[in-house]
Amino acid sequence: MKIVDVLRLAGEGFLSLLYPPHCAACGADTEAGVYVCAACAEQVKRIEAPFCRQCSQPFDGAIEGEFTCFQCKERGYHFDCAVTRFMSRGVVRDYIHRFKYDRQYYLRHPLADWMAEALDDERIRSQPFDAFVPVPLHPARYRERDFNQAEVLAKLIAKRAGRPVLKALKRVRYTSTQTKLDREERMENLRNAFRVRHASAVQSRHLILVDDVFTTGSTVEECARVLRQAGAASVRVVTVARG
Ligand SMILES: [Zn+2]
Ligand SMILES: [Zn+2]
Repeated sequence: MKIVDVLRLAGEGFLSLLYPPHCAACGADTEAGVYVCAACAEQVKRIEAPFCRQCSQPFDGAIEGEFTCFQCKERGYHFDCAVTRFMSRGVVRDYIHRFKYDRQYYLRHPLADWMAEALDDERIRSQPFDAFVPVPLHPARYRERDFNQAEVLAKLIAKRAGRPVLKALKRVRYTSTQTKLDREERMENLRNAFRVRHASAVQSRHLILVDDVFTTGSTVEECARVLRQAGAASVRVVTVARG
């Protein structure tokens, strides 16, 4: 066992004695539990109104009140809305990547802080919900990574919201990486990739689907589609950020 694993087992409290709190982006000293210094936090790109009520895509221009973007109207998603307060740029994108691909597991904390802001949104607060459902990873991908980023984040925000995490979905088809595909190719790639474990667990439930990033929306759309098909009353989506 490597020394870092021993230290991880010894607990993060112990680790924090060895590594005093600092900004994970620039290394500046911070207070305990703060992972982004004030200067770096200022660079974070927040989503400000006006934005699409359904997909949160910001709109450059003057629109009074609520609107739904042309794409959402065309597509007719199975989720009511995809809520996030941040664009996946700069520090936010950097932390998501380091968390997912470089195993910088401690970055789950600032990511959960950002994701939790979505819970304050009127689109989430206006109607109660029963459970958080993480977007699942395929078992092969899970073995490779050791954790499902969506599930880790769902657990952290579920604790704050006092609602359970429901692992209602499983990924039954291994899908190649989606990053180079356009939206239509992604939808094709994802067809029948997800299954609901027990329909009775989601029937008539109001669910919050959790993923790290909303990019084209095809992953959460496919998850929402099977959840609704299994009888879920509603599906709303929260993510750390939006592509
Ligand atoms: Zn910083
Ligand atoms: Zn939209």
